[in-house]
Amino acid sequence: MPEYDQPEPGVVEITGEQEIAPDLVVVPNRHAQLVPNIGVIGGAHSVLVVETGMGPRNAEKVLKFAADHAKGRRLYLTTTHFHLEHAFGARVFAGQATYLVNRAQADDLAAKGASYLEMFRGLGEWIARQLEGVELGAPDVVYDGSYELDLGGRVAHLRSAGRAHTKGDQVVTVPDAGVMFTGDLVETGQFAIFPWFPPYDTDVSGLRWIGVMQRLIDGRPQVVVPGHGDIGGPQLLADVRYYLEELRDETWRRRDSGMREQTIAEEVRAVMIQRHPDWAEPEWIERGVGCLYSEHAA
Ligand SMILES: [Zn+2]
Repeated sequence: MPEYDQPEPGVVEITGEQEIAPDLVVVPNRHAQLVPNIGVIGGAHSVLVVETGMGPRNAEKVLKFAADHAKGRRLYLTTTHFHLEHAFGARVFAGQATYLVNRAQADDLAAKGASYLEMFRGLGEWIARQLEGVELGAPDVVYDGSYELDLGGRVAHLRSAGRAHTKGDQVVTVPDAGVMFTGDLVETGQFAIFPWFPPYDTDVSGLRWIGVMQRLIDGRPQVVVPGHGDIGGPQLLADVRYYLEELRDETWRRRDSGMREQTIAEEVRAVMIQRHPDWAEPEWIERGVGCLYSEHAA
């Protein structure tokens, strides 16, 4: 695992770029909070950027890096889902890149973008600073189901994953390189992020997420780029599926025995921290319990 000096939260730094396949570069998030892994995928005539970073100043850095890398090739932008650090810099790309996303993500952005902006501005001064001047992005192309983007001698596959971490998660794969960008369906070194905020946002589904993970595993990628954390192999997908299943099983076993939700959350948190002592952000365990507590086998 690479080591990084105390990275500044919320700030994209163009450093430590990893060329994980020819003309396919990832700017790693260096374990910085609210910074995603960012991809730049090149073909003969076009370049696709995956994720913008949070706010215009981060997105300007990403756009400059991508434009320098593209050397005159046409630019495209996509984002894995509407969350701030992934998509709330898209406006900076307007006129410079063609922004394309799946229908469910565009719907998420339209329905929840403004309220997420307000909510996150209130979560900390350092977040509010990065969000200064944000205008919500407007996709140029909204597709249904899946989209094959021809970059010239290389095709990037964009696919709506189905409801999981959000309603609108999108997965980007580059088949010739065996690479898959998962967004927040997968993280490395931390507990799965359940944005379960009743009554405001209850779109995350632990059960559907398990099903989505199986489909990603069936896609047999060789390299997995998570939303946050270190790049890895297909084992990352199996690890997430396993964690989601154990979270479901530990929650349901207690629910079925009549235990109160609050007690379940406390007990399952303790169990999961014990099983995954190296993982960060344990506060997501309780939210995951809350989500799965509300769900029932089909
Ligand atoms: Zn997210």
